[in-house]
Amino acid sequence: MTAEQNQLFSKIRIVLVETSHPGNIGAAARAMKNMGLARLYLVNPVNFPHEKALFRAASARDVVENAVVCTDLSEAIGPCQLVLGTSARQRRIPWPLVTPKQAAQQVTAQGDVEGDIAIVFGRESKGLKNEELQQCQLHLNIPTSDEYSSLNLAMAVQVVGYEIFCAAVDQPPAPAWDQPPATNAELEHFFEHLEDTLAVVGFHDPENPRQLMTRLRRLFLRIAPDHMEISILRGFLKAVNDLKNKGANI
Ligand code: SAH
Repeated sequence: MTAEQNQLFSKIRIVLVETSHPGNIGAAARAMKNMGLARLYLVNPVNFPHEKALFRAASARDVVENAVVCTDLSEAIGPCQLVLGTSARQRRIPWPLVTPKQAAQQVTAQGDVEGDIAIVFGRESKGLKNEELQQCQLHLNIPTSDEYSSLNLAMAVQVVGYEIFCAAVDQPPAPAWDQPPATNAELEHFFEHLEDTLAVVGFHDPENPRQLMTRLRRLFLRIAPDHMEISILRGFLKAVNDLKNKGANI
């Protein structure tokens, strides 16, 4: 791999949420190493460390041994500037959907960006919860037969890793931009600030939230705001709160 490709691959985190079977962790690590990926994050793994993980990893034991274990998803994706959630299922409120090829193009287009990129995989039994997918900018779906859409976890990692590997070989020049993309943590703080402010001005009823925040999340995640844009929006929210605190009738 070239230096640029190495640099891109070193930014990619593969995040597995609450994996039950340690064998799947090992098989995912092997799939990663085959495709040049090394940074494995495990959010609350059910059975880890475990010898089955090392056994199934074969020559990718190092990926398993260097895995970062986290207690919640935000710890694994907080600093990331692009977060993709993988899921076999369409959701009631659909999220912007990409195929593995389109996802790989998005990932390789981040070549010049400083921050990390995360690809999040769900539980073997239940996949990703809606709240987890709603922390991601994009929903990555691997097209399958209608008869059976759910791949084995490690096989899903393999397919996504393969497409990133192929796209990286044929990497288009990254588009120039003056600001870094907002990180997941910056976006999450913004969503909290937005929700509070909407409640303060009486537009949002936390007792009866409906889908307001889900729809606003989808709007802002779709736009992919940069660091400066999020700072401006937070400044605006602060100004609204300050006015309200001074007794303004808004
Ligand atoms: N029964 C679960 C599927 C779990 S499969 C469900 O209904 O959601 C384990 C994980 O592999 C999923 O959470 C997802 O991260 C990945 N995966 C499996 N099949 C996939 C597909 N067709 N597209 C995208 N990701 C998939």
